[in-house]
Amino acid sequence: MTAVLSKSRRTFGALSLSEYRKRYPLTVANFGALENREAWLDRIWGLDARWQQALEKNGGAQEAIVRGAPPANLSIEGEFEIIYAGGGLGLLHAAVMSCRYKRRVMVFDTGNVGRAGRDWNISDDELRGLESAQLFTRAEIDEAIVNRYRSGFVKFHDKGSRVKTPPLWVDGVLDVAIEADKLLARASAKLEASDTGSAMLSGLRFVRCYNQPDRVMVEVEDTRTGKRSLFGARLLVDATASSSPVSL
Ligand SMILES: Cc1cc2nc3c(=O)[nH]c(=O)nc-3n(C[C@H](O)[C@H](O)[C@H](O)COP(=O)(O)OP(=O)(O)OC[C@H]3O[C@@H](n4cnc5c(N)ncnc54)[C@H](O)[C@@H]3O)c2cc1C
Repeated sequence: MTAVLSKSRRTFGALSLSEYRKRYPLTVANFGALENREAWLDRIWGLDARWQQALEKNGGAQEAIVRGAPPANLSIEGEFEIIYAGGGLGLLHAAVMSCRYKRRVMVFDTGNVGRAGRDWNISDDELRGLESAQLFTRAEIDEAIVNRYRSGFVKFHDKGSRVKTPPLWVDGVLDVAIEADKLLARASAKLEASDTGSAMLSGLRFVRCYNQPDRVMVEVEDTRTGKRSLFGARLLVDATASSSPVSL
């Protein structure tokens, strides 16, 4: 699979390629001739900057969930029923809620909505879940399958240890290789066609949300301009995974 990032989108405040080269020569060299090298460097730089920020603030990150009203100077750009921060797996759930349950959803991502950046191994059991949620037909799922494995094993590295560990063979776990972007592209086409007024917005970073009695207001930052704004919803789903500002 080739993961592609939008060419024109540069992260607000990101460094120039020559500055990256000066500060991180090995990283730039190892990224070599990767297509859209600067966009990938920007993403790593952004992740690292936020990680450093989290470490610096007395060992804690900025509050990502705040009770009460948002600052009055931020404009409200839209209202939805459910907002998903993170457009990887989040997009699959959003598509079910929009296509099957006719919810007005919004999915946003600091990169591109519907781009996994890596492929997934999964199991037939889990794939059946997507089928029974009526998101995909069996034929659509089959089109995204690129490989199947007979079995797999888990093993501790025992070289140099007196205790030798035999492999533990497991069947039916992570034994189906999926082209993730193909599945996500299909989910995003379905969400787009769902006629619920739903939206997918790339290049927006989740900053924090304001919890109010009847809704949440989600503060986002445009990664190109740095402009902050708000979106309202009944529910926010945090699907930003390992770099989640909520868990950091
Ligand atoms: C090398 C590698 C191989 C893996 N292989 C497998 C596998 O085979 N099978 C498997 O099940 N799992 C695998 N995983 C785990 C994998 O990460 C998850 O299964 C899957 O990608 C998780 O999807 P996700 O949408 O939760 O997270 P991610 O794919 O990480 O998506 C999170 C999204 O949130 C966005 N985001 C982050 N912060 C913000 C923010 N502040 N605002 C807005 N958007 C934001 C990111 O841009 C990203 O698009 C692997 C992980 C790695 C690193």
